[in-house]
Amino acid sequence: MPDTDFRSPRLHVDASLTAGSQVPLDRNQANYLGNVLRLGSGDRILVFNGRDGEWQAAISGRKRPEHLDVITLNRAQDGLPDLHYVFAPLKHARLDYMVQKAVEMGASALQPVLTRFTQVSRVNSERMRANVIEAAEQCGILSLAAVNEPIALDRWLAQRPPEHLLVFCDEAAETANPAAALEALRGHPARGIDVLVGPEGGFAEDERASLLRQPGLLRLSLGPRILRADTAAVAVLALVQTALGDWTGPEKHA
Ligand code: SAH
Repeated sequence: MPDTDFRSPRLHVDASLTAGSQVPLDRNQANYLGNVLRLGSGDRILVFNGRDGEWQAAISGRKRPEHLDVITLNRAQDGLPDLHYVFAPLKHARLDYMVQKAVEMGASALQPVLTRFTQVSRVNSERMRANVIEAAEQCGILSLAAVNEPIALDRWLAQRPPEHLLVFCDEAAETANPAAALEALRGHPARGIDVLVGPEGGFAEDERASLLRQPGLLRLSLGPRILRADTAAVAVLALVQTALGDWTGPEKHA
């Protein structure tokens, strides 16, 4: 990725970004820049808000960072591929991990679905959004993945776009090469992709039967072993990005 500056710290802010604008820093941001990164007045960072691209900015403030002076546009705003990571929520630390990995792997939306064996009934969406921002700052992306409210699996199936490819990670599927199954779909008209991973307890039989009737379905085995859901997340998103997504290098326009 030649045009990404991996050295400069990146900070997400909510404020609009234009040349010459000034962005006030809240206490956490001032602490992160001043005490964690030990930066001060005049130091340069990259700042983005998910809408206006990524800008070079200079820290200013007397004793500690108080605000940013936005200077030049570093990278114009881009978009995320239409890749929805749909998952049965896990408990705290593993959910934090799974959200961050899905963002690093390029998911544009995170959709918690409540299934029969999901062991979590409430999801802290604010905590998920904080993890999305932290992962976006770290992995160099300019957009923030959407964090959708949890929804029952059957309700999500009823409202998902039927033209989306549905990659159903099924622990009960016969072992078969997932890369070959995904590669076979390359070149099909570009459409959104929904990737579904179940809970620790797996999918219930009636859920599996309903899933296998879905339009646009690709039932995927992730090998002969049972993966933890957060392992499955990284594995399937790597396969999808390699076969159908943006790991294949810049778009080859025919
Ligand atoms: N019943 C098992 C399955 C849970 S694994 C258990 O209790 O451990 C959690 C989720 O990860 C599954 O629902 C599935 O979506 C995915 N997964 C795990 N291993 C898989 C595999 N070998 N093939 C396909 N999906 C898998």
